Amino acid sequence: MDDCIFCKIVKGEIPAKKVYEDDTVVAFHDLEPQAPVHVLIIPKEHICCAAAVDETNSAVIAHIFEVAAKLGKEFGLDKGYRIVNNCGEDGGQTVKHLHFHFMGGRAFTWPAG
Ligand code: AMP
Ligand code: ZN
Repeated sequence: MDDCIFCKIVKGEIPAKKVYEDDTVVAFHDLEPQAPVHVLIIPKEHICCAAAVDETNSAVIAHIFEVAAKLGKEFGLDKGYRIVNNCGEDGGQTVKHLHFHFMGGRAFTWPAG
């Protein structure tokens, strides 16, 4: 996806403050943080959204949650954190490359939005 900003971050074509990277996943600070810790965890593979997850590409989702647990420990979020995925227009998704918001350092309310 040539015009996808998160694919460009994966390829190093635009800068990001990365906090984690391996063969299949990258995590970086959100440009407009909504919490003291606000990191986006994304698959390196371009998957548009949660609605495009199927048996061929779902392994990376489990791995993303492993990375989230690791980040929770590294950021010292002993009291917890929130993981959010926005899917599609009604879900409020603005960047069409699957990503999970990993947010912590404050208490959140529910239901969101
Ligand atoms: P969503 O609305 O769920 O699609 O979330 C997209 C998120 O990406 C927003 O929180 C933006 O602040 C964030 N974002 C957009 N561009 C960048 C970027 N270049 N680097 C880091 N975060 C970004
Ligand atoms: Zn992409």
